[in-house]
Amino acid sequence: LLARASKNVGRTAVISNKQAFSYDQLLHAAEAIRADLAKKLVTAKSGAAPSAPPRVGLYAAPGPEYLAATWAVWQAGGIVVPLATSHPPPELSYVCGDAGVAAILAPPDQESRLGPIAHEHGSSLQLLPPLVGTAPQPHAAAGAADAGEAAADAAAAALSDVAGSSKEGALIIYTSGTTGKPKGVLHTHRSLHAQVSALVSSWRWRPSDRLLHGLPLHHIHGIVNALYCPAAVGAAVDFMPKFSPSAVWARLESGDVSVFMGVPTMYSYLLSHYDSQTPERQAALRQAAAGLRLTVSGSSACPVPIMNRWKELSGSYLLERYGMTEIGMALSNPYQGAERRPGTVGRPLPGVEAALAADGQLLVRGDNVFDQYWGRPGATAEAFDDNGFFLTGDTASTSGSPPYFTIEGRTSVDIIKSAGYKISALQIESAVLEHPAVAEVAVLGVPDEALGEVITALVAARQPEPAAAPGAAGAAAAAAGAAGAGSGAGAAAPVSEEELVRHCRERLAPYQVPKRWHWIASLPRNAMGKVNKKELLKLYSAGQI
Ligand code: ATP
Ligand code: MG
Repeated sequence: LLARASKNVGRTAVISNKQAFSYDQLLHAAEAIRADLAKKLVTAKSGAAPSAPPRVGLYAAPGPEYLAATWAVWQAGGIVVPLATSHPPPELSYVCGDAGVAAILAPPDQESRLGPIAHEHGSSLQLLPPLVGTAPQPHAAAGAADAGEAAADAAAAALSDVAGSSKEGALIIYTSGTTGKPKGVLHTHRSLHAQVSALVSSWRWRPSDRLLHGLPLHHIHGIVNALYCPAAVGAAVDFMPKFSPSAVWARLESGDVSVFMGVPTMYSYLLSHYDSQTPERQAALRQAAAGLRLTVSGSSACPVPIMNRWKELSGSYLLERYGMTEIGMALSNPYQGAERRPGTVGRPLPGVEAALAADGQLLVRGDNVFDQYWGRPGATAEAFDDNGFFLTGDTASTSGSPPYFTIEGRTSVDIIKSAGYKISALQIESAVLEHPAVAEVAVLGVPDEALGEVITALVAARQPEPAAAPGAAGAAAAAAGAAGAGSGAGAAAPVSEEELVRHCRERLAPYQVPKRWHWIASLPRNAMGKVNKKELLKLYSAGQI
């Protein structure tokens, strides 16, 4: 991937803070960082296991320094360990200690935050000088369609030799911690190359692309799909300091963006913002959304109502795909040439084998799969079956012809066993969300003597739309409110239970209809918009939500 970057001389790699940074400039900056880092790693090496490449923590806001520092670590033969800028010091310290980082790269204004953590783990702190860019050029709109297609073919061909890439460690990403303590997942240059190459060819990445980036960089979605892919083909990444629906719409309206990737909650905020606009403004936003070449959803299941609304708005379904920290992307709806089916995550990406175990668990094998859980040989061994398939812990099914995969949910929390049935919580959530009074829902299997588990829906009401357009402040406040934990126990019911049951009976089998309904202010979510259902069940059972 690093070798690809040097082929993109003269092109814009990053746009950040209204400045553009070229590939040449970032490669040059990478060389300076590498020279300093190499000295630090030589000193640090004496204590470390000689065979393991040094791990280097990377703490930087989304921006040009992120890419330059990544290349620098790889050039120095190190493994990048992304550190979440949103994490409090104890969590940063957990990751640094767990990965055993020899050095930490961070901007000068974070010295006081990272200094003590580096000291605690005996690692050196290297400060990243901020880069200064030039005025960005407007994005020359995708150009002639044919030239774009030919360029996409060339980009895919250039990356096709996965086997030639190194099996040395490249990246340790920590899982989202949705089901337990985050685990460090080691990817090699080869597994990253396989992931990037599959996405570049399937999603038709091309150098003329410009991606609007609003995802955290310490998860596979934000770093591999939304940063390494564009960087591998010489495309540009336009970083937003923070996701905000009004800022996204403004950038899409500028016509400067060809690719956007988000988690389902982001699309839900974008739709709410759209709903709050005047009909004239809505027409402009529809046109902006229709101008995107590629709009991807993932990280958790995209509810079908969001899919349908996005299609009404933009003319196409979001491209939903399925992946995990451990395997990168494994399944994807088609970019072109076949239908996208809402509620499914499509078919295996090139180079990926997907299978279903007897109990419905999804199994994955291929060059995309990670090398090991860092420092957890037991967990690594348990994660694979005898045939070398990775056990995803997600339950899936297939339907249609050709068969597309549907993720039923996490085997441990989303597959509810009630009255002898095995029921997918995700399917129920999708149906409940179609009710106009419901903004968010999480369906839980609550232990019950008679039924085994009783299907329980925790629902948050849709806030009435303000009469006038709320503008940036209103949307940001709405996003912030929905992202925080629901405060206090329970909330008022805007519709009756009978009404919700009637709504569900029209869409689900009788045994799938929730038996208990509980209104809450909002659902607690992590940075990726995911709900920790084990935690939620505890809060609910203790009457704290
Ligand atoms: P942890 O492993 O620490 O509990 P996590 O599993 O949430 O956290 P990630 O690797 O970031 O950490 O997320 C992968 C999981 O996200 C998958 O196992 C799956 O449950 C879910 N997921 C990702 N994409 C989709 C999708 N399109 N539909 C449904 N679920 C998805
Ligand atoms: Mg996981």
